[in-house]
Amino acid sequence: MQSSTNQAKQRCQNCLQYGHATYECKNQQTYQHRPSATEKLFKKQPERQLIEVPPKFEYPTPAAYERALEEQKKEEKRKAKEELHCSSRRDMTLRV
Ligand SMILES: [Zn+2]
Repeated sequence: MQSSTNQAKQRCQNCLQYGHATYECKNQQTYQHRPSATEKLFKKQPERQLIEVPPKFEYPTPAAYERALEEQKKEEKRKAKEELHCSSRRDMTLRV
């Protein structure tokens, strides 16, 4: 029967397993949020993006890790200043 072969290949959208349909699912839902292109487009960008510092174990020495953290903090401050500068300038042009 065609329907049974289809069912065997069917993938459940709920638990993402094969062999049963979504409405037949008795498993717990596997949450897989995949934002649509529109969602991505209109999603507000985070105020500031953290620079990713790899975890401690990726550094040869703890000192190197500390240094990287310091660099990250500096970069954050620099960005914050830039944002402040930009927004104040934008405000001025708006008023004029
Ligand atoms: Zn399922």
